[in-house]
Amino acid sequence: MTSFNAMKVKYAAQIFSDSMSVALLVLKHLGVLDNGSEQTSISVKDMDSLFDCLNSLKLDEDNIKLRYAMTEHSPHTKILEEMKQAFQDCKFIGAKRPACLKGWQITIASVLQLAEELRNSHGVPKSLTRNLNQDSLENLFAIVRQQHGCCKNPNVQQFENGLHHNYITTITKLSCNSNCEADFTTSLSILSDLSKKHKEELKQPQKADISTTTVPSSDSNIPELLENISLTDDNAIYYVSGYVSKKFLKLHACDECRNILLDKAKLLTGEHQLFTYFKQSDQLEPHQGLLFVSDETFQFLKIVEAVHNEYFSKLLKSISLTEDLLKIIKQILHDHNFSFNLCSEDSTELFLQTFVKIRNHWATRIENKSKIKKVVNKNQKLQNVCHE
Ligand SMILES: [Zn+2]
Repeated sequence: MTSFNAMKVKYAAQIFSDSMSVALLVLKHLGVLDNGSEQTSISVKDMDSLFDCLNSLKLDEDNIKLRYAMTEHSPHTKILEEMKQAFQDCKFIGAKRPACLKGWQITIASVLQLAEELRNSHGVPKSLTRNLNQDSLENLFAIVRQQHGCCKNPNVQQFENGLHHNYITTITKLSCNSNCEADFTTSLSILSDLSKKHKEELKQPQKADISTTTVPSSDSNIPELLENISLTDDNAIYYVSGYVSKKFLKLHACDECRNILLDKAKLLTGEHQLFTYFKQSDQLEPHQGLLFVSDETFQFLKIVEAVHNEYFSKLLKSISLTEDLLKIIKQILHDHNFSFNLCSEDSTELFLQTFVKIRNHWATRIENKSKIKKVVNKNQKLQNVCHE
C-alpha cells in the first residue's frame, strides 16, 4: 500500500468500523494482541460513531447504527461535541500533531452550526449529513482527471473540455485510484446513457473460463481438515452461522428448525462465541440483534466450512460449483457418519445450500479482489510512465 492509498476514505471506513473494534477486543481476550489494543478498540469505535454521525442518509431512526437523520434530541449532537473535544485534547507523544485534526474540528463545528441554523431559522428539523459530503465533487474531479491522458493537473481549458466530454459521451466508471467510495446518491457525475462501448460491455458478460471438471475424490479426513481452523476462525464461523441461519429461516419459517438451529438463551459457553457476544452487547436493543446458533449447528457448519475451504479453489472453474461442493460436503459427512437433521431432508438440504451459496459469494469476491489488485498495480505503472 502506498502512502496515498493509505489516505483513502474507503479503507479508513473499513478500519474504523464497529466490527474492527469488536475484533480487537476478542483478539486481546484470546491473547493474540497486547493490552494496548483495548484503547485502540475504543478509539476505533469512537471514529466509527463519528463517521456514522457525518454520514446519515435515512430519515427513520435506527436502533443499531447512527446513520439516520440528526435532530435536536438525537444522540448525534452529543457524540459530535465529545469528538470535537477529543480532537482538541489528544496528545501525540514523539510525533507531530496531524494537521487534519484541525480540519475535523472545523467540520464538526460547521455541521453542528448548520443543523442548528436549519432547525431554528428554516424549519428543517432533520439533517441528513451525508448530503453535505464532497464525495460527489471529488469523484467528478477524479473522472475529469482521467481525460487528456490522465492529466493530474488539467488547465482550465482541459478541465472544461473534459467536463463537456463526460456529459456528452460517456457513462463513466470511477477510477480505482480515486479517494472516495463510489457514491450512489445523486451524483454530480450522472451522465447520459450514450456510450456504445459501455452498453456492449454490459450486454456481453465476460465469458468464464469453463472447463469440464470432475469432482475430485474426497478422501479427506474431517479431523485433519479441522486442524487448519484457529480460534479466531471459530469466532468468524460462529458469527456467520448466525447470519446463515437468519437467511435460512427467512426462506423456511419453521419453529422446529428454529429450535434446532438456535440457542434462544444466548448463553456464552465458549471462546468461539466472543465476537458474536461482544457485537451483540453493542446493539442498543438486545432482542433485535444477532442470532446465537446452537452448538450442534456450529459444529456442523464448522465441518462444512473446513471442507469448503479445502475444495473451493480446486473447483473454482467448475460450471456447477455449488452443486459439486454440495456433493463433496455430503459425501464427506456421510463417510464420517456425521448427521445433522432439520425438520425434513429438504430443509437440511436448503440450509446447506444457503451456507454454500453465501460462502461461494464471499470466496469469489476475495478471489476477484486479488485479481483486481494485480491489474490496478499494472495501470499504476503505466500511468506513472505516461507522466515521466
Ligand atoms: Zn423446518
